[in-house]
Amino acid sequence: MKKTITVAEFMNDALYNKDTGYYANHEPIGRGGDFITAPEMSQVFGETVAIWCIDTWHKLQYESNINIVELGPGNGTMMQDVLRVVDKLATKPANAFLLEKSLKLRQRQQQKLGGRPIWLDELEQLPAQPTLFLANEFFDALPVDQYIYDDTGWKLRLVCIEEEQYKFVPGPKVSFDFLPEKAKLGDIFEHSEMQEEFANKISQHLEENGGAALIIDYGYSDGYGDTLQAMRNNRYIDVLTNPGQADITTHVNFSWLKELFSSKGLSTSDIIDQGRFLQQFGIDQRTQLLCKNATKLQIASLLSAAARLTAPQHMGQLFKVLIVWS
Ligand code: SAH
Repeated sequence: MKKTITVAEFMNDALYNKDTGYYANHEPIGRGGDFITAPEMSQVFGETVAIWCIDTWHKLQYESNINIVELGPGNGTMMQDVLRVVDKLATKPANAFLLEKSLKLRQRQQQKLGGRPIWLDELEQLPAQPTLFLANEFFDALPVDQYIYDDTGWKLRLVCIEEEQYKFVPGPKVSFDFLPEKAKLGDIFEHSEMQEEFANKISQHLEENGGAALIIDYGYSDGYGDTLQAMRNNRYIDVLTNPGQADITTHVNFSWLKELFSSKGLSTSDIIDQGRFLQQFGIDQRTQLLCKNATKLQIASLLSAAARLTAPQHMGQLFKVLIVWS
């Protein structure tokens, strides 16, 4: 039987199908998993994010308790590191919330964080209080649609499935405001309704209650193109060959995201490199401090993790940071 689905439907099924989806059957994140994320590399990542939380809270001058919500917390490592520091340094206690779609990962987070955070099914369940939103490698995991430009204009790009073989095929002609007017034959443009939905929900909460959001992701701020990628055992593999067997992500279009938040009346930072952000919030000082009471082996691993997180040739430049304030 032959069927065609959109790229977003393909991603959604490959990642989140309850039986055959990647997240139902695999160990995605960490050293034994398919990819390593920044919080899993070193505690200093989450600790530096915690310093951002405290600094932002001071700047916003809220009297109330700190609400911190993390979107897509993976193994729960970043929230653990954030709370440890915030508990020590903040003048008021933090209320922690997590939004996680994968039941398997929710269990993992529960094991790590115990009963303290509240797991949300929807962002709308957040109490109406000023909130700090944290999203590390969350937006890149949300399904995107792809559009392809040919001599008749932009077309939706589809995935055709026939006898378990998957291939890309052009779909119907479309016209959307977000599609560039000028393009070259064969150009591919990505747009994610789900990213837009989450950005809208965050904006609405910030507008009504105050707070800020920290978005860190694989991303770009110029141009556009096909960024769909599949990763298994820390290696890139063909996206269409093994659906359900690999993690599929895209690079986030940060200039689009920034504009979206600005259009809701929120203030946005420049799109900065992860390396610069981490250094601004003290990753080097924190690493030095940890090295003081560490063994030689630990020192080597602390220094190499800090370098991987900040160096331009590693994660320092490929990962971007956008900060949004009410
Ligand atoms: N932030 C973590 C994990 C990144 S992987 C880290 O840096 O290690 C992406 C995470 O987002 C996973 O936890 C995944 O299950 C979650 N996720 C993806 N789509 C989601 C959705 N629609 N709602 C909630 N969580 C989602």
